[in-house]
Amino acid sequence: DIRVIVLEALPMILPGFNEKLAEFSKQKMIERGIDIRLRTAVTSFDGTEVTIKSLDENPKDSMDESKIDVIRTKTLIWTAGVTPVNTIKRSMFKTDKGKVIVNDFLEVLEFPGVFAIGDCALFMDPKTNRPFAPTAQLAEAQAKIAAHNLHALIKNLEKRKFEYHSKGQMAIIGKRTGIATFLGMNISGFLAWLIWRNVYLSKITLPDKKIRVFIDWAIDLLFDRDISRLKLMKRETEKEYKVLDEVDDVW
Ligand SMILES: Cc1cc2nc3c(=O)[nH]c(=O)nc-3n(C[C@H](O)[C@H](O)[C@H](O)COP(=O)(O)OP(=O)(O)OC[C@H]3O[C@@H](n4cnc5c(N)ncnc54)[C@H](O)[C@@H]3O)c2cc1C
Repeated sequence: DIRVIVLEALPMILPGFNEKLAEFSKQKMIERGIDIRLRTAVTSFDGTEVTIKSLDENPKDSMDESKIDVIRTKTLIWTAGVTPVNTIKRSMFKTDKGKVIVNDFLEVLEFPGVFAIGDCALFMDPKTNRPFAPTAQLAEAQAKIAAHNLHALIKNLEKRKFEYHSKGQMAIIGKRTGIATFLGMNISGFLAWLIWRNVYLSKITLPDKKIRVFIDWAIDLLFDRDISRLKLMKRETEKEYKVLDEVDDVW
């Protein structure tokens, strides 16, 4: 039996998504037996216990009433973001939060003709004044402009500025369920999942790979759930674990 607990420091999951879609995802995950704890930060893990701290709703207005708790587990999956590799951090390029700062043409500052794109590059969203989220969609869009600008440099043509227009956002949240912001619409459920699959299928370049993946996904549609997907879970009580510990000690 498996028990899955999602610990999230923010007051919502999937913060980059539309609020209703994020709420839909949360409810779906709860329906599937996942315990979601918001405003909860992981403070340590010693291999057998995860220490968690529940964060205040209004930390500025009130006294710090954060509560410390412990979850007994030997399995902790850390998914709190990615960070650029040390090669970049230690490079001679100017960086911010470990990412290479680039100009409007995606060229590295003070290094004309050198380009940085994707997760390792820091490109600010002029609307929010925050860096764009590191996604494959952004990396792909930047790759096209960097390729154009490299060609322009060689041929003495005009370089193009990078302007990003997101095509939308998608995520699958379990079997046959997804969320998507697509063509300005917020879609959830089976249709969003279907859109997700078709978009990803269209991104596979080699036809034989595309067919293989399509067949695999079609088979998956007809048969029972994958072992890694959860539905029903039996919860053991703390007391039963204690009894088991004692038996272990005797043995
Ligand atoms: C779990 C997960 C899920 C994601 N899901 C999505 C999603 O659904 N949609 C989406 O748009 N984005 C998603 N992303 C983000 C997306 O994968 C990245 O934004 C995208 O891959 C960035 O492309 P990139 O070319 O900059 O870097 P990468 O794809 O990371 O490519 C960098 C490559 O450089 C190699 N490398 C590193 N160091 C060296 C070195 N010293 N020498 C040589 N090679 C080196 C790495 O091995 C890697 O292959 C996800 C990321 C993760 C981790």
